[in-house]
Amino acid sequence: MRLDVLYVDGDITTGDPARPRARRLGVLGGRVAGLDDDLDGCTAATVVDLRGAPVVPGFHDAHHHLSMRGQRLRQVDLRVGDLDELYRRVAERASGLAGDAWVLGHGYDQNRLGGHPTRVALDRAAGGRPVWLQHSSGHMGVLSTEGFRRAGFADLDAVPDVPGGHVARDADGRPEGLLAERAQQLAFAVLRPEPFEDWVRGIGLAVDVALSEGITSITEPGIAAGLVANSTADLAAFLTARERGLLRVRATLMPGADALHEAGEVEPGRPWFGLDLGVRTGLGDEWVRIGATKVFSDGSLIGRTAAMCCPYADRPDSSGFLLEDAGELHRRIVAAHAHGWQVATHAIGDAALDVVLDAYEDAQRRFPRPDPRHRVEHAGVASDAQVARLAALGVVPVPQGRFLGEIGDGMLAALGPERARLCYRQKSFLDAGIELPGSSDCPVVEGAPLLGIHDLVNRRTAAGVPFTPEESLTVAQALRAYTYGSAYADHAEHEKGRLARGLLADLVVLGEDLLAVDPAAIDRVPVVATVVGGVPEHGADDLAVS
Ligand SMILES: [Zn+2]
Repeated sequence: MRLDVLYVDGDITTGDPARPRARRLGVLGGRVAGLDDDLDGCTAATVVDLRGAPVVPGFHDAHHHLSMRGQRLRQVDLRVGDLDELYRRVAERASGLAGDAWVLGHGYDQNRLGGHPTRVALDRAAGGRPVWLQHSSGHMGVLSTEGFRRAGFADLDAVPDVPGGHVARDADGRPEGLLAERAQQLAFAVLRPEPFEDWVRGIGLAVDVALSEGITSITEPGIAAGLVANSTADLAAFLTARERGLLRVRATLMPGADALHEAGEVEPGRPWFGLDLGVRTGLGDEWVRIGATKVFSDGSLIGRTAAMCCPYADRPDSSGFLLEDAGELHRRIVAAHAHGWQVATHAIGDAALDVVLDAYEDAQRRFPRPDPRHRVEHAGVASDAQVARLAALGVVPVPQGRFLGEIGDGMLAALGPERARLCYRQKSFLDAGIELPGSSDCPVVEGAPLLGIHDLVNRRTAAGVPFTPEESLTVAQALRAYTYGSAYADHAEHEKGRLARGLLADLVVLGEDLLAVDPAAIDRVPVVATVVGGVPEHGADDLAVS
């Protein structure tokens, strides 16, 4: 057999229990043609000598807002330690813009700043320009006075309350600037959609960064509708990026649940619900595929908007809230399930988790189908009983290891010491027999999988506080999560997530052996090259090709 590429002298961890280690890997037509002695007698158009370098399957981030990451790469970076520095960065960006241009920023965290930025201070910093600064969680943001005017509120007293959201107000009832959850729609009404070409370009920018981090697949939660989407044509933006050679990682896309609608009758008396043409989970190819539909049930822990069974430790008057009526949420989930969708519901609080699991259980009871593999995005707080119930229902929780290292201190403050045990569990999920995916929620926190693996193993906050170390994973478990586990969560484990014959030839060449390095130094392991479909898409110059 003549191969397209033959990789030789690699220290390859395959993830395949039938052959866990290999030295040689052959590629034909973008897939793994074989390993080691499968390849005896084969020739190859190209030979890459890995010179003993460690190789693992390509990283798959199971919850990664690639297009939003691209959008933020074009905005002011507000991941700063104090408000003065935040306002300075806003002023700096504003000074380079036309007097009427929007100043857009992202990534601030009021837990680090001591408070949210305010409308009045933004007016000063930006010289009266329209400003919109989004919180690191994406669940809230702050608008300047001119921003409110552009959004249709020249009269600030006319800014309404928004169901499922919160408009922060001063003693006189005037908006302070902060808009939480669905109240962000007041700003999005004027800010979205961004121009299609900007969105396509942003996808390309984010892909370059993702490849440098060893990512070969992402699952994008929420396109086409909802809090994190841009426009109804988001799928077309990904297809256009692919056609232009910009989308060089594989993308599974989750349409936001608001995009699903009554769509005529599929037969007399049987109404259809979903997307036009009967589009649903599973459509697409190995590059761009429709995944689950993304539902939102609640907010975030660090924003104190996740729906909890008990009040927040530092806000005894509040236990968060559901973004819509529990009955409506239930109906939405059951309808999507009944029409063939895998469902992925954002649920961070334990009260939200109960509502979601009730809906998944009811949906499968009324409309049984094999292995729907519904997901709970984040599953930030889960009791022992809820962990067992997730496992029993075959539901995949999608928690984020990196949250601990970047925003874990805020989560500890929100929960208090007793309930911290229930927060962002990992080991408990594995012990319950759940196949755990690896994910970041980038750009909420950094997207690099090696940072995620570092935190899955080390579980320490930014302040250095150990975060329930009994939930730590081994490196091998964390690596499996970021490869096979994420593929499994997409119903794609027969296509990728391991290096075995017939699977996609997606792999990462590392500068050090992840499985042998000091666990405290995982975050410093270099990515040498990232190979997608057998082709080095990052680091080609550092490979010995002949
Ligand atoms: Zn997300």
